[in-house]
Amino acid sequence: MPEIGPEGQRKLGGARVLVLGAGGLASAALYYLACAGVGMLGIADDDRIELSNLNRQILHNPQRIGTPKVFSAKDTIACFSPETLIVTYPRRVESVMEMLEMVRHFDAVIDCTDNFEARDLINQSCILARKPWVYGAVSGFEGQIMTIIPGRGPCYRCLYPSSPPSTSNSSAPGVIGVSAGFVGILQASEVIKHILGQGSLLVGRLLYADLLEMDFSELRVSMNPGCDYCGGHTEP
Ligand SMILES: [Zn+2]
Repeated sequence: MPEIGPEGQRKLGGARVLVLGAGGLASAALYYLACAGVGMLGIADDDRIELSNLNRQILHNPQRIGTPKVFSAKDTIACFSPETLIVTYPRRVESVMEMLEMVRHFDAVIDCTDNFEARDLINQSCILARKPWVYGAVSGFEGQIMTIIPGRGPCYRCLYPSSPPSTSNSSAPGVIGVSAGFVGILQASEVIKHILGQGSLLVGRLLYADLLEMDFSELRVSMNPGCDYCGGHTEP
């Protein structure tokens, strides 16, 4: 592909991407990041696999029910991409300092968590560490994605100054696997483009998809000059 070539493949091979969560969004994102040749993947999650996860968490299987998701994810990726270096973090991150310690080892971060508090931590840490990250959320047949590059566009706090009503990826009220897969693949696509320096990223653009109606729309998001975290500052 002209957009990649040997130089792009070298960039991907040298890239380090941290995926926070090892559920539905992460399953899709990790499959395609590994297949694209991203050299190092970090996976963080403190959950164990349950039967009800398997409709969308395609890195896992029924034989692994009860085992930690990060190890299952690592084993599956190792089967099809043995050259990928995988670092696992089987724990819950509860402070900005803890998150910073993880994030600083990577070039980009993908949010595959399922709650506002976790995304708020990711947002603060990535602003402090000046790392790009991709927000993704799903519910039912719907999903939304935005890419945050500190200093270049609005942050998650500019988008949601307080907890939004429905941006959970959790199984209740329910997520169909295709929604999680769709959003996870778009998140991987954003990170791959960022690594390659190609195309247009979803910076300041919240993409909303309704797969039931096949309706896609985009909300322009502005930097909030009063934002507690990024202060609405851009860089030259
Ligand atoms: Zn902000």
